[in-house]
Amino acid sequence: MRYLLVANVYEQIENTTKRLEMTDYLVELFKKTPKNLIDKVVYLTQGKLYPDFMGIEIGMAEKLAIRAVARAAGRRIQEIENNLRETGDLGETAQKFLEKKLQVTFFQQPLTVERVYQTLDKIAKASGSGSIDQKISLLAGILSDAEPKEAKYIIRTLTGKLRLGIADMTVLDALAIAYGGGKEARPILERAYNVSSDLGQVAKIVAESGIEGLEDFKVSIGKPIRPMLAERLSSPEEILEKLGGKCIAEYKYDGERVQAHKNGEKVFLFSRRLENITNQFPDAAELVREYIKPKSAIIEAECVSVDLETGEMRPFQELMHRRRKHEIRQAIEEYPVSLFVFDVLYVDGKDLTLEPYPVRHEVLKEIVDITDRVQIAKYLVTDDPQELETFFEEAIENGCEGLVCKSIGEDSVYQAGSRGWLWIKYKRDYKSEMTDAVDLTVVGAFHGRGKRAGTYGALLLAAYNPEEDTFETVCKCGSGFTDEDLEKIPKMMEPHRIQHKHARVKSKLEADIWFEPKVVLEVIGAEITLSPVHTCGTGAIREGSGLAIRFPRFTGRYRPDKSAEDSTTVKEIIEMYQSQLKRVGN
Ligand code: AMP
Repeated sequence: MRYLLVANVYEQIENTTKRLEMTDYLVELFKKTPKNLIDKVVYLTQGKLYPDFMGIEIGMAEKLAIRAVARAAGRRIQEIENNLRETGDLGETAQKFLEKKLQVTFFQQPLTVERVYQTLDKIAKASGSGSIDQKISLLAGILSDAEPKEAKYIIRTLTGKLRLGIADMTVLDALAIAYGGGKEARPILERAYNVSSDLGQVAKIVAESGIEGLEDFKVSIGKPIRPMLAERLSSPEEILEKLGGKCIAEYKYDGERVQAHKNGEKVFLFSRRLENITNQFPDAAELVREYIKPKSAIIEAECVSVDLETGEMRPFQELMHRRRKHEIRQAIEEYPVSLFVFDVLYVDGKDLTLEPYPVRHEVLKEIVDITDRVQIAKYLVTDDPQELETFFEEAIENGCEGLVCKSIGEDSVYQAGSRGWLWIKYKRDYKSEMTDAVDLTVVGAFHGRGKRAGTYGALLLAAYNPEEDTFETVCKCGSGFTDEDLEKIPKMMEPHRIQHKHARVKSKLEADIWFEPKVVLEVIGAEITLSPVHTCGTGAIREGSGLAIRFPRFTGRYRPDKSAEDSTTVKEIIEMYQSQLKRVGN
C-alpha cells in the first residue's frame, strides 16, 4: 500500500474540523487498507506505532531530524534551521526543500506504508552507541524516496507533532462503518477497545472477521483495561438515593491507581493512564506475585505510601518520590507502599468485568491473601446516611480522601473506560489547614511492630478541657520520632504508667498502655478534621463527632516546661478548625 494514500487522507483531515467529515475520510482510508495492515494504519493515524501501554516512544529529537532532512535534500543544516525558524514546523520545511530537489532529481522508489512503518519502528527501537547515526541514516533513507507531502507527515509523526486530532471514538466509528456494517456496531467495538486499550487489535479483528469476531471479546492478561471512573456527589443522602437506597462504601485511598496483571511469576502494573509502571514499583509487583492467590488474575488497587513501623498511611505527596526512574532501590526503602485492592476483573481465564460488583467483591475476598501490606479496601454496606457520614469522617482521619460509594445492583458491572453513576465519590469541599503546632498530653501508647517492636509504635495524645478538667484525645501519633526518641520515651513514660485509662481521660480508643496525664509534647499535622474516633470537642461542630489532627508528627520538642493542664485546650482546637476552613476544588 502506498504511503501517499495515507498522507493524502491526513491532508484532508487537517483541512476539516468537522468530526463527521473526518470519519468519512477515515472510512475511505480503512476500506482501501489491506486487512493485514489495518492495525499499523490505525496506530499511524494516532501518531503511534503501538498501543500506548507498550511504552515504545516514537519520538525523535528535532535536532536529529534536521540533520536527516539536510542530508536527504542535499542542503546544509544551517539552511534547514533558518527555514525552520520561519515555518516553526519541520514537516513543512522538509516538504519545501524536497519540492525544490524534485525539480533536479528523478523520483525514486515509491514509499509503501510497510516501509515507512518498519523504518519508524527501527528508529524508535535503536539504542546504544551508534544509534544517533543509525537513526539519521534511516530517516534520510526514506526521505530520499518520499514525495514532499509524504516527507511532511513522516517528519511530523517522528517528532511527535502529527496531531490530527482524531479521537479514539472517531476511529471506532470509522471502523464500525467500514467493517462492522454501520455505526450501530460502535458499542461492540467500543467495549473491545475498553477492555484491551488496543485500537489496532480491535481494527484487525473487525477487518478480518467482521463484528462477530468481536462479540465474544474477552479481557486478556498484559493488555490494560481502561479504568472505570466515578461521578461525584456531595451528601450521603444524595449518594444513597442515586444508588438505590443502599451501597457499598469504600475508603478512597489517596495514592496511585494500579491495575495489576498477574500471570504466574510474571506481573505487570499499569497506571491509571495505562502506562506500564512495573519498573517503578517492583515492590508492589512482588506483593501481587505473593499475595494474590490465583495463578492468573487482573486486580485493581490503590498503591499508597505507608509507614511500615506504624502501619499508618502517609500523605499522597510522599508517593510522588516513587515516580522517579533512577535509584529506585533507595526510593523503595524510603517510601514503602501498601496495596488496597478494590476490584477484580479476571481470574484464571474468567472475565469478570460483566459480573455485578457484589459478585466481584466476593471473589476479591477469596483471592487476596491479606497481610499488613496487601489489604482489601475497607468497606461498609449501608443504607443509613448517618452511618455513611461517620464512615466518611473515619476515612478522612485515617489519611484517605473520602469514600467511593459503589452500586450493588444487578447492573453494577465494571464499566471499563467510562465515568458513570455506578461509582460515586464523596470527597470534602473544604479543608482545614493546620499552620501552628500544638502541645498535647500523652495519655496512652500502642505497641510498635517491625523495627519498632519492643518500643512504642504510636502515642495517644490529648488536648485539655479546663471546664470539665478532662483530657480529650485528638490523635494517634507515630511519626517524627528519631531512634533516640524511641529509646527515651518509654523510659520517660514508665513512672506515669497506670493499669487502666485515667479517670480524667476521655477516649474511645483502647490503648495498649495507659498513662496518667503528665507529659507534654509538641505536635503538628496537616489539618484538623472531624472524627468519629477522637473525643476532642465532641459535638461542638457536628453531633457525635469530635476533632482530630490528620497526619500528626512530633516536632522533636519535648515540653517539660509545661504541665498537662498547660496543653493546648479543646476550645483552641475547635477555633483552629473553624478559622482554617477553606474551600477546595475537586
Ligand atoms: P478521582 O481521581 O477523584 O476521580 O477518584 C477516583 C480514583 O480514586 C480512582 O481512580 C482510584 O485511583 C481512587 N480510589 C481510591 N480508593 C478507591 C476505591 N476503593 N475504589 C475505587 N477507586 C478508588
